[in-house]
Amino acid sequence: MRLPPEVSRILSQLTAAGYSAYAVGGCVRDTLLGRVPHDWDICTSALPEQLQAVFAADRTVTAGLKHGTLTVIRDHIPYEITTYRIDGDYTDHRHPDSVSFVDRIDLDLSRRDFTVNAMACSPDGAVLDLFCGQQDLDKHLIRCVGEPAARFEEDALRVLRALRFASVFDFELEEKTAAAVRAMYPTLSHVAAERIREELVKLLCGPGAGRILRAYPEVITHLLPELAPAVGFDQKNPHHLYTVWEHTVRALEGVPPDPALRLTMLLHDSGKPYTQTTDEKGICHYKGHQQVSAQIAARALDSLRCDKALRDKVVCLVEAHDILLSTDRRLLLRRLNRFGEENLRLLFLIHKADRIATGTRHPGHAEEHCLELQAALDALLAEKPCFTLKDLAVNGRDLTSLGLRGKAVGTALSALLDEVMEGTLPNEREALLEKAKKEYL
Ligand code: ATP
Ligand code: MG
Repeated sequence: MRLPPEVSRILSQLTAAGYSAYAVGGCVRDTLLGRVPHDWDICTSALPEQLQAVFAADRTVTAGLKHGTLTVIRDHIPYEITTYRIDGDYTDHRHPDSVSFVDRIDLDLSRRDFTVNAMACSPDGAVLDLFCGQQDLDKHLIRCVGEPAARFEEDALRVLRALRFASVFDFELEEKTAAAVRAMYPTLSHVAAERIREELVKLLCGPGAGRILRAYPEVITHLLPELAPAVGFDQKNPHHLYTVWEHTVRALEGVPPDPALRLTMLLHDSGKPYTQTTDEKGICHYKGHQQVSAQIAARALDSLRCDKALRDKVVCLVEAHDILLSTDRRLLLRRLNRFGEENLRLLFLIHKADRIATGTRHPGHAEEHCLELQAALDALLAEKPCFTLKDLAVNGRDLTSLGLRGKAVGTALSALLDEVMEGTLPNEREALLEKAKKEYL
């Protein structure tokens, strides 16, 4: 296996100082998969103080030194270098009670979660693969190192990591690992919300996400209990062929792998089981499910300690997921005003995926409608139209000069903006001032 020059240099520095050292974990796995690793982790027999001595001339981060990690920064790229270690007992399903440094790589590799993550690469490029990780890569399998139930018992997050890696690499879980996931997932309750969120978002954005959500709904609904009623929920509506969960999974598969879009689709119909009504013909309806879904989304994302920007974006998109969209100029301007260009473009994609995922619409029609919306929006934006107060040819100061005061200024401005967007007034200073004088003074 080929190592990047800087990684080779770091390994050589360590071996020249008399220590053994390897590139390890995700970077080895990704390279063997033909992917470009996003970072290179290194492990070594050098103890933390010895590491500091070897890299005394480098810019370093020492925050992880208690756990054996020195981060060396070269050319603005961080390299985490960690002393071989083994974990002590786990009593809380999330952290080892202690870690001890050891001088053998085989011990360090055996504490790692999955065989594909437990390979190392020596300075000369030879892969050290004690648990047949390469074979599992070839067979597209996620398999625990050691006894799956025991490994999940130690650290419950590994349950979710197993599903994450299966989704991201589009792999299957090896049989005993899968059985242990099904038996052990309730222990995920012990894990910090931030760590859950990180793994869950990666899982949702993987190419195998739909397959995993179908195969392990109990794990996902354990993390987000509000989604539990969706599983197996028959919509009893001729426009919907699938249960809420199957529709959700299909809709999620139908949007690009972006965290906001995937979270939006996961949550967009979560309110349906809570809003079902039946008409005289026995057909079911879900009036107001958009708002209930948005409330559920807000609660779910808060429980995952999602950052505010992502949370607000997803809640907005969930609430608007089936809002009326058309190529009508005035309607598009109103939508631009309410959502902004970025979110409006996402709503086009959400609409398309949502429609196709009903199982009753012609995918080609939904696709075509989305392209029409995009083309209409492109054409409209090319005109540099006015759709925010910032674009308006008059501002608050202008209206104050006319004699308007306090709240009346804001009311007049937004009324003028409405008229400009409706096309009943041109966005020209004189015309706007004239109108303001006549109607709002
Ligand atoms: P990514 O591409 O997402 O960074 P990664 O495999 O590098 O994937 P990290 O979370 O960065 O994943 O962890 C680095 C390595 O540390 C893993 O490859 C694995 O060997 C080990 N590891 C990480 N988390 C755990 C865990 N919870 N239990 C056991 N080993 C773990
Ligand atoms: Mg990593």
